[in-house]
Parts: sequence; structure tokens; C-alpha cells
Amino acid sequence: MPELYDTPASPATFRRRILSWYRRSGRDLPWRRTRDPYRVLVSEVMLQQTQVSRVLPAYRRFLRRFPTLRALSRAPLGEVLREWSGLGYNRRARDLHRIARANAFLPRTVAGLDALPGVGAYTASAVACFAFDEPTSFADTNIRRVLGRAILGRTATDREAVELDARLGSKRETARWHHALMDIGATICHAKRPRCEVCPIRAFCDYDGVEAQSQRKRAPFGASDRRVRGAIVRHLAMSTRGVKVSVLRRGINDPRVPRLVLVLAREGLVEVSSGSVRLPAR
Ligand code: SF4
Repeated sequence: MPELYDTPASPATFRRRILSWYRRSGRDLPWRRTRDPYRVLVSEVMLQQTQVSRVLPAYRRFLRRFPTLRALSRAPLGEVLREWSGLGYNRRARDLHRIARANAFLPRTVAGLDALPGVGAYTASAVACFAFDEPTSFADTNIRRVLGRAILGRTATDREAVELDARLGSKRETARWHHALMDIGATICHAKRPRCEVCPIRAFCDYDGVEAQSQRKRAPFGASDRRVRGAIVRHLAMSTRGVKVSVLRRGINDPRVPRLVLVLAREGLVEVSSGSVRLPAR
């Protein structure tokens, strides 16, 4: 990776451009107005695989129903999954529920957060940064694209982006720095058509409009399985009693339903008894 000084401006100027753009043009999102680690964690878990526009109403609804870690711990898993079902990737809700049942308070350190179920290195660093002001280095897709294109001329790998973030990031304004990069990635440095003409770091950017060929597209099959899994949970969320597997299969009209019901049962997301499936009652 090139040294930082390969960039045409000093790191301080680079940082200042990004931070002052954020003060003028950053997105006002509800999870950025709180330092409550539980709320920050809920937002980060929701944002892991879902777009901001879909997370916004879900985040507000979920926190109205479960405003604290304690409230979440007291709810049956089935109820949590019901609230979550529109978002998909229901394992995220199960893991949040497990975290709430096992912890009266959330840990303050990256290592402590990283040890929680379903919380990986990225989410642990993001929560430590946004809730506790820890000067951690981390990178989501937007940060990988912005820092990578600006410094390397292409989207960075995870490891490269974290290293660039560690070299360039603001330690004093760590939350603003990361929010700013995420917003530049989401609103200006689009994957397909970046709006370089309005970008605050265009003078420093090395991107020539061509991404490296090696970045592979996602396989479509996993996505299909995920859609069917989501449909199963949504169907069950509408019923308080068990639903026969055959009825589910007809309703969803997909031959994978019986197999995926077994997978969901192994993961603790549904309960199966006498051929009927339901969301967990406890
Ligand atoms: S100048 Fe263009 S490619 Fe470079 S970071 Fe800004 S939007 Fe992205």
C-alpha cells in the first residue's frame, strides 16, 4: 500500500475537507443523535445488511417496542422476530435477543463487544466509536470505496481500508470522521456513477473511473434462500398458532420450504412440533 504521503495533500487537509463537508452536508439520522450503546448497537445490527431507508422506520418501531436492553430481554423471542420480520436476516434479531438475555449492560471495549453473539469486528468497532468515542479503525463498504478510490485508485479491501482509516482518521472526532466517510460513500461516491464534481476530496482522489476486475459479484443462490427464509418468518409472524409445513409450502409456493424450516429450527429461529412450525414462544 502506498504511504500516506503519496497523497497530494497533507493528511490534516484531507481530514479537514471531509469533516467540514460533514458539518454542512452530513445526514441527520436518529441513531447519530444518541450515545446509548443499546440504540447504537440496534442500528448497527440493522444496518449490517439493510439499506438506511428501510432501517429508519424499523429502527423507530423496534425501539418503541423494546426501548432498552432490559425490555428486549423480557420479551419472548417470537415477539422480537415478529417486530423484525420485515427486515430479513432474522438471525440478527435472535442474536440481539441473546445479547439482551445474557447482559445487563453492554461492554465498553471493542474486545468485549466483539465477543457478543452476532457482533463481528466491524460492528464492535462501530459501537465502541459511536457510543463510547473510542478512536477505533474500521471500514464498511462506503468507507472502503471512498478511502480506497481516493488513495489507491480503486475500492480497498477490508484490510487495506482499516489500515488507511488508522493512518488518516481523526482521533479527536472519530465518530464524525466515520459518519462523514459513510455519507460521502452513500451520497456522492456511488459504486457506479460517482459524483466527483461535488466531492470534497476530488482534488486528492486517484480514481480514474475504472474499478479492478477482480471484484466479484455475489452468487445469486444464497440470496434466493434468504428470500425464502424471510418469507417463512413473515408467514409465521402473522400467526400466533403453529402452521403446518405443507400449508407454509403451499403459501410460499417454494419446494425449499421444508428444508429451510429445518435449518431455521436448528438456528433456534422457529419451533417445530408435530409437523407444525411457529415462532419461538419463549
Ligand atoms: S472524487 Fe469521485 S471517486 Fe474520488 S472519492 Fe470523490 S466521488 Fe469518489
